[in-house]
Amino acid sequence: MASELKQRARRFPKEPGVYLMKDGRGEVIYIGKAKDLRARVLNYFTGADERAQVKFLLQKVERIEPIVTRSEEQAFILERDLISKHKPRYNIRLKDDKAYLSIKIDLNQPWPRLELVRKISSDGARYFGPYTFSYEMRNLLEVIKRAVPLRTCSDTVFYNRTRPCLEYQIKRCAGPCCLPVDREVYLEWVKQAISILEGKSEALSKKLEAQMESASGRLQFEEAAVLRDRIQALRNAKTNQEMISSDLEDRDYFSHSREGKLASVSVLRTRFGRIADTANFAFNDVVVSDQELLSSVIGQFYDEARGFPREIIVPYVLSDSELLETVLSRRAGFAVSLVVPERGVKHRLLKLAEVNARQNFSMNFEEEANAALAVKELALKLKLKQIPRKIECIDVSNLQGSDIVGAVISFYDGKPEKESYKRYNISFSGKPDDFAAIHEVVSRRLQAGLQDGDLPDLLVIDGGAGQLAKALQVRDALKINIEIIALAKGRAERSGETSRKAAASKPERVFVEESSVPIALASEDIATLFIQRVRDEAHRFVLSFHRQKRSKRALRSVLDTISGIGPDRRARLLRAFGSVDAMKDAPLEDLAKAGRMSKLLAEKVKKRLN
Ligand code: SF4
Repeated sequence: MASELKQRARRFPKEPGVYLMKDGRGEVIYIGKAKDLRARVLNYFTGADERAQVKFLLQKVERIEPIVTRSEEQAFILERDLISKHKPRYNIRLKDDKAYLSIKIDLNQPWPRLELVRKISSDGARYFGPYTFSYEMRNLLEVIKRAVPLRTCSDTVFYNRTRPCLEYQIKRCAGPCCLPVDREVYLEWVKQAISILEGKSEALSKKLEAQMESASGRLQFEEAAVLRDRIQALRNAKTNQEMISSDLEDRDYFSHSREGKLASVSVLRTRFGRIADTANFAFNDVVVSDQELLSSVIGQFYDEARGFPREIIVPYVLSDSELLETVLSRRAGFAVSLVVPERGVKHRLLKLAEVNARQNFSMNFEEEANAALAVKELALKLKLKQIPRKIECIDVSNLQGSDIVGAVISFYDGKPEKESYKRYNISFSGKPDDFAAIHEVVSRRLQAGLQDGDLPDLLVIDGGAGQLAKALQVRDALKINIEIIALAKGRAERSGETSRKAAASKPERVFVEESSVPIALASEDIATLFIQRVRDEAHRFVLSFHRQKRSKRALRSVLDTISGIGPDRRARLLRAFGSVDAMKDAPLEDLAKAGRMSKLLAEKVKKRLN
């Protein structure tokens, strides 16, 4: 396929444009832009692009389609539009979180409150915002909460309380839900909140100061103290946010953190010398370079609602810096430049964005990163030829020698891929045993994999040397080049001993092809924990399949003894309920409906089951 695609790419125009990569089903899986379409696409096939992710992407691509544009700038815009239309799996795509928050005050309510909403409606209420910077909005709300004792509860809570809540105890609310609060006074507070939202907190401070003095003059010291605290809250709001830069230019700082296909990008936005906002994005199928990742995020981040800064600070020079500057400046209506700082405040803030990106990465991908590390460790310990991405594990179950079944579970990049799990009913011609069952499941799985071009990188067999030998026999007969290992339970676990000491003295053993001596795995090692998880998942899955089968068989034999239940009706009931218990618990009407039978017969069935 790669050579056909390469041939086709040779005929691409040497013009700027966009290329669409499609998979076997015709789905667009990646969209890229290029100054020279032919050179860019050929790059994927000449080995000039050595990124491991490129190889991965090419395995999935079956067709590449070019679209020529008049300029590189037009290609940039078209790429962005096509990405948002097709939503390709391997493109960097910012989720549309552009429904900014607004603050709503409904003055038609008897006891108005401040509400956060994402939609402004024409419902007669007053709206403030939308706020592009969430910091700004959060600060405002905090100031209002401290300066004005309005209720914060929802209407449901408000009309159902029997006592004021904690807000009342900490003097943040006057408690109109249950206490006799003067409505005139409350509405005056609402007006004060509106003054703050309108940016008139200075005037409000003065008004409150006058009220405080008047209260002191009347020897109303408690009232004066409350007013003093509110004035203080308003003043604090102004000094609360530290100035981080004396020059007041608007800047956005972009940084990222990445491991393989997992990445996170953070944006730190400064306005008037203060941190105004941050935004974090996480991506888990990144097949482009770090530079392309940042370019894509920057290219999609800005719009009129979000606003444009004069400077965008990045950790290194991006290959399409100039293009980004041209496009963003045109849209902003003023010059926007990309800057790489080497020292000073900008450098320090860029580092801060980097810390945010790292933190965001671990919040999003801790589990994935650990799984990737565990797989890597496992490959090292077992001296595998490659770090396996797709690992499958086979287990069989023949509890009490009946209904022998097998199952294959699958992990991709260290995570279970449940949609790929498979179940097998085993059919023996000879005497059933574990080895023969493994032989059959491996054989059926690998033959199907050969046909569909979907084979695992590593196959794990639950068992010892004998089971491994059977699996290898199948693999070699089919001439398939995949690695197979067998994992045998630690003797401590088999004998029911579960203490750490017992586990350490009788560890799990892995049988590999090249050695007759199994490799013992350290009990608390990350690789051991991972491979145990894979094996346990296979075990869980095959057992649940086995139980289901037995239960269905039990149900079938009960149904066979009831007159009026023929093969069709029996099949319908088995399909609908699957087990004696499920059928026992089902309402009579459901039973009658599923079996298309009279209530009388349904009652008879129920009686027999009980
Ligand atoms: S004290 Fe009453 S009115 Fe105030 S927030 Fe609590 S529940 Fe709402």
